[in-house]
Amino acid sequence: MPHSFLKLDGKQVSEHVMTELKSSVVQFTQNWKRPPGLDVVLVGENPASQIYVGHKEKAALKLGFTSNIHRLPSKVTQKELESKILSLVMNDQVDGILLQMPLPTHLDSQKLIEMIPFEKDVDGFSEKSVGALCLGRPKAVACTPAGVMELLKFYQINVTGLNAVVVGRSSIVGKPMAMLLINAGATVTVCHSKTVNLKSHLKSADLVVVAAGQPEFLHADNFKQNAVVIDVGIHRTSSQKIVGDVNPVGLELVAKAATPVPGGVGPMTIAMLLSNTLMLAKYRMEK
Ligand code: NDP
Repeated sequence: MPHSFLKLDGKQVSEHVMTELKSSVVQFTQNWKRPPGLDVVLVGENPASQIYVGHKEKAALKLGFTSNIHRLPSKVTQKELESKILSLVMNDQVDGILLQMPLPTHLDSQKLIEMIPFEKDVDGFSEKSVGALCLGRPKAVACTPAGVMELLKFYQINVTGLNAVVVGRSSIVGKPMAMLLINAGATVTVCHSKTVNLKSHLKSADLVVVAAGQPEFLHADNFKQNAVVIDVGIHRTSSQKIVGDVNPVGLELVAKAATPVPGGVGPMTIAMLLSNTLMLAKYRMEK
């Protein structure tokens, strides 16, 4: 029988999620006489952060959210940034607060994240949000791993009982991804730069989520036949091409399903950010 391959199209699925969100935003606005609001704090001039924040604002406004970007100079002091965050915490019209990472090194990122209350933590990075995820009672979950789960759900890929390997253990992708997969019933192995024999782990995985930040360091022959391969990596090469952590050549002959880069996990991240904002807005208003 010929091998069938499914492209997990994050662009299409994110549009589907956004269309549903748009009508929920209308409903929210009618019910509460105001739109849900997402406020983003951007420190400094990091070009990638400026682009990401611009995309987030554009998508939020398009769906009917209010969205404000608070731009602060890279020399902002910890105290000044703390008082900015505090003002957003106190503002009742602000449903979600996103502190764009990375911050300049003189700032204490975790202390600032902890100032954002659970009810407004749209990125799911605070200790309380992470703890709730570990206990299987999440509110807002880190947007990229949440987007991966949404993509799997859309294509009816049931992870229960699968052997899953997550490559990467960062707090924003690898760890929450592993926790979501555990909560969904997968048997999860987390690999990282100190893992001995990554390849043998990959060869026994039914599902692989790669978030190592290493351009095209994995290839089709690293995966088990019929594996599902999710590539979180995004890199721009010297010739301005966007590539992932997985070299896609021949992948369709081995994998049962895989995400393209670009157009896979990336578009899902913003959709989940807005979905988290609306969910927290409803949660706070109904409380
Ligand atoms: P980090 O650099 O914070 O983490 C990378 C992880 O991969 C670390 O745990 C590291 O191990 C591990 N690692 C690095 N090299 C190897 C290797 N050779 N073998 C096995 N493990 C390895 O990255 P992020 O988690 O922030 O991001 C990962 C990728 O995802 C990046 O390409 C990033 O651009 C992309 N990304 C994409 C998003 C999207 O919306 N699509 C959003 C966020 C990130 P160790 O802990 O031992 O150092």
